[in-house]
Amino acid sequence: MNANYQHVKKSCSLLLQWGAVLAMAGALLSPAGAQQAKLVKSKDGKAVGYKDTPILPWARYHKHDPDRPLPKEVVPGAPSTQEKVGTAPSDAIVLFDGADTSQWEPNKWKIENGELEATEGDIDTKQSFGDCQLHVEWQAPDPPRGPQMNRGNSGVYFMSLYEVQISDSYTEKIYPDGSAAAIYGETPPLVNATLPPGKWQTYDIIFTAPVFEDDKLVKPATITMFHNGVLVHHNTVIHGPCAWRKIEPYEPHPAKQPLRLQGHGNPVRFRNIWLRPLNSPPAKPDR
Ligand code: MG
Repeated sequence: MNANYQHVKKSCSLLLQWGAVLAMAGALLSPAGAQQAKLVKSKDGKAVGYKDTPILPWARYHKHDPDRPLPKEVVPGAPSTQEKVGTAPSDAIVLFDGADTSQWEPNKWKIENGELEATEGDIDTKQSFGDCQLHVEWQAPDPPRGPQMNRGNSGVYFMSLYEVQISDSYTEKIYPDGSAAAIYGETPPLVNATLPPGKWQTYDIIFTAPVFEDDKLVKPATITMFHNGVLVHHNTVIHGPCAWRKIEPYEPHPAKQPLRLQGHGNPVRFRNIWLRPLNSPPAKPDR
């Protein structure tokens, strides 16, 4: 009898405790509670948010400010497969889509089956770029051709100076700072994610340009990069123009310069090349 009484008492106590918790949660989540915050419309009447919240010191907008500019809408591209070429995001500058090399000069590399094949000599974009997101797909020759140091050798030069190496690092092992996805002559990739020759490979690179004030370097270039979807550089500092067997110091140059693909006498193939210039957001809100 006594045991039953204790059991009932304990159950009632638990129920009361849960009731109190639920009542508190109900008060917090109730419409009345939500209405205490002043939800207001943006100046253009399209968005809602709050204006009675603290100012974000790094943005100078209120927290949840409805007048903070909405991000521009971009239609994503489709990813490539080995058999099918993908597409670029809607705001990208398409540098090669299989049809022509009108974005490049000199315009002398070979186009075959919608693919761009490196011949002799480098090619540069007609447009100049600074900070950017770059997507490039490449393929080393199958079967591998040429001397060991030139198997699938090409490269992507940001600003015509800073090279991310293209090389058949699946078949051949050369010095690590000259392997695929290395910042040539400076820093090897974090891992070797190279696919066999004849397979399409992707580079997705975020490049930030060096900053000069007068003749002085105030911020070196950096690279974050995925090779076939694998992180191979994470904000890696570039120490100067990339060169063979020597260290080149930074020299002041314009804020934008052409992108270069290297012709190293090896028939590396390219497809689906696109670039999105990256502009820093304004330091102060436009209002
Ligand atoms: Mg190279």
